[in-house]
Amino acid sequence: MSEMLSPKIEYFADFMHGFYCPGCKWMHHIAIDRPSETNQQWQWDGNVNMPTYSPSVLVNWSRHNIPIVCHSFIQNGQWVFLNDCTHELAGQTVSMVDIPESQL
Ligand SMILES: [Zn+2]
Repeated sequence: MSEMLSPKIEYFADFMHGFYCPGCKWMHHIAIDRPSETNQQWQWDGNVNMPTYSPSVLVNWSRHNIPIVCHSFIQNGQWVFLNDCTHELAGQTVSMVDIPESQL
């Protein structure tokens, strides 16, 4: 079950926040209200429109068997993508985007 905290943040499974990553063009979810199964948990400043999370979000995944690294900070509603990202937004800072309806 999920609900929207704002057009940019999905609240998922009663403890996770989800965002649409414009680098991966895919959803990322992080644990906020309790630790995840891998014992990871992030701090959130409570802002639904211009949120800040810490620490950084590191996602290792693969699409069509191609490994993808996505490493970012989310600060004041901006994605700060670090240089170790494998996607085209590595090293760039871009605004968070509304979650496309197709992802909900
Ligand atoms: Zn990503």
